[in-house]
Amino acid sequence: MSRILLLSPRLANQIAAGEVVERPASVVKEVLENSLDAGATRVDIDVEAGGSKLIRIRDNGSGMAAQDLPLALARHATSKIASLEDLEQVGSLGFRGEALASIGSVSRLTLTSNDADDGSQGSCAACEGREMEVQLKPAPHPRGTTVEVRDLFFNTPARRKFLRTEKTEFNHLEEVVKRLALSRFDVAFSLRHNGRVLHNLKPGHSQAERQRRVATVCGPAFMEQALYIETELPHIKLWGWVGLPTFSRSQADLQYFFVNGRVIRDRLVAHAVKQAYRDVLYHGRHPAFVLYLELDPAQVDVNVHPTKHEVRFRDGRAVHNFIFSSLHRALADVRPGDNPGGTDGLRAVGDGVEDGLLVDVATGEIRQQGGLSLGAQPVPARGFADYGGYRAPAAPAPGQAMEQVRDYGRLHSLPDAGDGQEVPPLGYALAQLRGIYILAENAHGLVLVDMHAAHERITYERLKTARSQEGIRSQPLLVPRAVAVSQREVQVAGEHAELFRGLGMVVEVAGEESLVIRQIPVSLRDSDVEQLLRDVLADLIEFGSSDRIEGHLDEILSTMACHGSVRANRRLTIPEMNALLRDMEETERSGQCNHGRPTWTQLSIEELDKLFLRGR
Ligand code: ADP
Ligand code: MG
Repeated sequence: MSRILLLSPRLANQIAAGEVVERPASVVKEVLENSLDAGATRVDIDVEAGGSKLIRIRDNGSGMAAQDLPLALARHATSKIASLEDLEQVGSLGFRGEALASIGSVSRLTLTSNDADDGSQGSCAACEGREMEVQLKPAPHPRGTTVEVRDLFFNTPARRKFLRTEKTEFNHLEEVVKRLALSRFDVAFSLRHNGRVLHNLKPGHSQAERQRRVATVCGPAFMEQALYIETELPHIKLWGWVGLPTFSRSQADLQYFFVNGRVIRDRLVAHAVKQAYRDVLYHGRHPAFVLYLELDPAQVDVNVHPTKHEVRFRDGRAVHNFIFSSLHRALADVRPGDNPGGTDGLRAVGDGVEDGLLVDVATGEIRQQGGLSLGAQPVPARGFADYGGYRAPAAPAPGQAMEQVRDYGRLHSLPDAGDGQEVPPLGYALAQLRGIYILAENAHGLVLVDMHAAHERITYERLKTARSQEGIRSQPLLVPRAVAVSQREVQVAGEHAELFRGLGMVVEVAGEESLVIRQIPVSLRDSDVEQLLRDVLADLIEFGSSDRIEGHLDEILSTMACHGSVRANRRLTIPEMNALLRDMEETERSGQCNHGRPTWTQLSIEELDKLFLRGR
């Protein structure tokens, strides 16, 4: 063993840099966060060679006085917190005081800043040398700060080797800028790469301006197929845009979640969102969303990770439940007629924002933006039942669910709309095409419906309703199944015995580390119930809730629904088609079939006119 030596400041910083500075994108994140913490309303980012040659970020924030510049570059030096109590209420993005020191130890860094508005000189600090001495000299700069980082990792070749192509590094860097741009609509951002301007985002304060920024950052297609949601309980609020299930993605690449303005990736949040989309997304597809959670800072611990990508919620279960139920409700309410980004159809949650109307998805209450309450009124999207004199059929009697829905012909026919009666959202049937599609006319133009997909969703939702009324049929196992588990799992199973019972599963504690399954839902007869139980217990321990049993039961209903729905090539009469359209308007989640495919689409008169070059 050699003698113990104190690390040189530079080496200590380089070790810390290992955690904070992984690639050019991490530099941009830290420096941009500093600008935002300094109250900047405009930041300009200039990058060369994917950021490895140069990153220059200029802001119009508070700036720093000359004597503070060397401190800014020192490790464990911060102006943001002074005590442990501050840490518990921290509102700034940074607080660890190590970013600039770390970056300075693995690059050529200069800091130019001015904290005065009176036209006086600013100063410039460059940090070099083994002991990281700082050279200070006067330099012109308006109020604000410019941070210049050249030749990242020039002195740490091992790190430099891990850098990918210029394009890949730039993509990561751009992603960081996008996230921060979505976190602060009130700040202007510009991004240049190799002299070319790629983004120039103006500050926005109104809802329309915010929406424009989201469309710029996430693509206009997302905005056209997204719902705006806003739910608030005392001390917690969730708002933002969620993609319709028909806008699902093959990768989880369009998911932004902010907690008190900080972008995070969190298992608990991811699970809650996934659970909310479970019933409407095809297996393996990922939802798209831009969501903002706001809660008392004391309820979240942001100091769990050096880059602060993860957070810890004090009451994780309550947060999980709140996110899940807000999104679940919003998605269930999507019906034909909700036409978020499109024509002016019925006002849905997504559309109301233009008029400053917001729908509280938890209570159905409609509020004027700015918090003024108009009292509880029915959500407009729900008032379909009275259109055209059509009445929703009562939920099927026990055991009859399949029979009743199978035969559309005998269900109900619809009188033609008389004068003065409004056309229902999906309009009236005109014809059937190839035995697959229904063509209908509504106020906007042509409606096309995939008959089988639509019927499948209706059948499925009815089967679920029937199940919730009849209860789940369950049967005792001839030979009860013993399952070896941990003590913690035994405890959790004991606490949730009622939950299991409600889903048709009887699980009893058989010993300190063993459970026994006595009864299971009839329809899960052929499933691996032991694995299911283990998975449910794992969910309960981690998230406080689990939807796996319902998930399995739903899957079986979904298969039944698929087999019980009108097949292609079946001729339907006009009244039958109209009945199907009315059922779609009545049914939750009827915009997508059970596999997340769309069930209908609209071709507006304008779009048709365009096709035929009319009115040019
Ligand atoms: P932290 O952000 O955790 O405090 P940093 O190393 O990122 O640590 O920054 C150190 C300090 O330098 C900050 O606390 C702040 O006082 C100052 N600083 C850094 N960047 C800026 C900036 N763009 N404008 C004003 N002050 C800055
Ligand atoms: Mg910082």
